[in-house]
Amino acid sequence: MADAVVVGSGPNGLAAAVILARAGLDVEVYEAADGIGGGCRTGDVTLPGFHHDLCAGAHPMAVASPFFRAFDLEAHGVELLAPQVSYAHPLDGGRAGLAWRDLGNTVDGLGRDGAAWRRLFEPLVRHWTHTVGLAMSDFRHPPLQPAALPTELAFALRALEQSTPLWNLRFREDIAPALLTGVATHAIIPPRAIPAAGAGLLLGTLAHVRGWIIPKGGSQAIVDALAEDLKQHGGRIITGHRVDSIDEFDDVRAVLLDIAPAELQRIAADRLPGRYNRALDRFRYGGAVCKVDFALSGPVPWQAPGCDRAGTLHLVGTRAEAVAAEKAVAAGQHAERPYTIAIQPGVVDPTRAPAGKHTFYTYCHVPNGSTRDMTEAVIAQVERFAPGFRDLVLATTVRTAATLPAHNANYIGGDISAGAMTLLQTFARPALRWNPYRTPLDGVYLCSAATPPGPGVHGMNGYHAARHVLRGEFGVRTDPLDLLARDQAGRAR
Ligand SMILES: Cc1cc2nc3c(=O)[nH]c(=O)nc-3n(C[C@H](O)[C@H](O)[C@H](O)COP(=O)(O)OP(=O)(O)OC[C@H]3O[C@@H](n4cnc5c(N)ncnc54)[C@H](O)[C@@H]3O)c2cc1C
Repeated sequence: MADAVVVGSGPNGLAAAVILARAGLDVEVYEAADGIGGGCRTGDVTLPGFHHDLCAGAHPMAVASPFFRAFDLEAHGVELLAPQVSYAHPLDGGRAGLAWRDLGNTVDGLGRDGAAWRRLFEPLVRHWTHTVGLAMSDFRHPPLQPAALPTELAFALRALEQSTPLWNLRFREDIAPALLTGVATHAIIPPRAIPAAGAGLLLGTLAHVRGWIIPKGGSQAIVDALAEDLKQHGGRIITGHRVDSIDEFDDVRAVLLDIAPAELQRIAADRLPGRYNRALDRFRYGGAVCKVDFALSGPVPWQAPGCDRAGTLHLVGTRAEAVAAEKAVAAGQHAERPYTIAIQPGVVDPTRAPAGKHTFYTYCHVPNGSTRDMTEAVIAQVERFAPGFRDLVLATTVRTAATLPAHNANYIGGDISAGAMTLLQTFARPALRWNPYRTPLDGVYLCSAATPPGPGVHGMNGYHAARHVLRGEFGVRTDPLDLLARDQAGRAR
């Protein structure tokens, strides 16, 4: 019998498993799907030879989160490619905001709002590890070293500003506010909510650090590297095994669940105490996505210069249009012109498609549980900024919000955040507890995106949970990041 079992092989489950195995424990991972990786998988879902990222496609955190900095994906053979333009935001009339990796280029391109962009981001970029340290904490123990405090304060004040009616005050034109709102809207909540503003500032900062990374070959490379490391440290992964009852692991000292709270309720059935169970009943799943993947015969003919260099694009129009589109989703409606994220991996990675051809990744925001095929609405949003796009389409594949849970039980109703990122649920994730990872069941912990700091491929939920497991169940007090860094140093020698 293993010392520790992890249920779910998403990036958080694997991050936790790697940490525990590196600490010398015997670790087993159980995964419901036939392949590993959860929201970080790649597959040929349109035509043979076209490799599509099925969920996560762009990775601002792959080089920036404390877990991945210590793990060092590049040292594990993952090629992390950074587009010159991290993200672009086209507007009608052939204009676009471009967030270059280089902050100075971005400032130069934003005209009268360039200086405002610099004032907004420069302090966060200059000390980006402090920015990340705060945003990736468990929100109970934010890093409080004196050196970090000015950056943390700058981050908090900017997040507050961007969540009040004052949010337009620093800008004079329409491109810069649209550019910023395009990032904040990733959170699938109204873009002026505090967590959206915080997400926008965090991801916006990282755009100007190492960029929004596109892994060579696809996002699968990230989870494959974690899985390989786990195996090298004695861990085992069992795929095609959906855990239906926590009783399977009664003899295991620590069980880490990379699953949604609703799945915990399903597999722990009547074992959860009433109060915790009721708290999980109150946990809300939020806005969802409809994923549409395209195989293209050529690159997308963007009207605005510079969009052809961007890894990621936000297609929605002005700040006001983004607000209106998200308001519709929050009200349970489909926006006529939905907020759409597009990724064109081909700008840095020609291995994703046969020579001269391209994969094109999109998803748009829809209400939770939506059964609507949004392919036409997505094509219309792309055509709006890239006339002629439709003629390049060789094949498409769509996964509606309602069908996403069949691929990954964590995405309830198509909510890719594993729980709405409202202000309350950013902290009380999945319940209001000092230790959100520990469940009331002995030795059972949650480590999924349904815990702080929330969704994204950063491994930090797995790290925080594994740290509690090591300390609480095995008496290991060393910070797992120190264990990883020490091992990395050993490998380098
Ligand atoms: C369409 C889409 C686009 C996204 N885009 C991005 C992006 O560009 N960048 C980014 O950083 N993030 C993105 N995300 C979010 C990111 O993928 C997730 O936040 C991240 O994968 C969460 O990791 P996790 O380990 O918590 O859970 P997941 O990756 O969801 O993994 C959970 C795993 O647990 C398994 N599981 C669940 N229940 C059971 C059970 N009972 N028994 C066994 N196994 C079980 C599931 O099959 C799954 O493999 C996107 C997500 C989606 C869906």
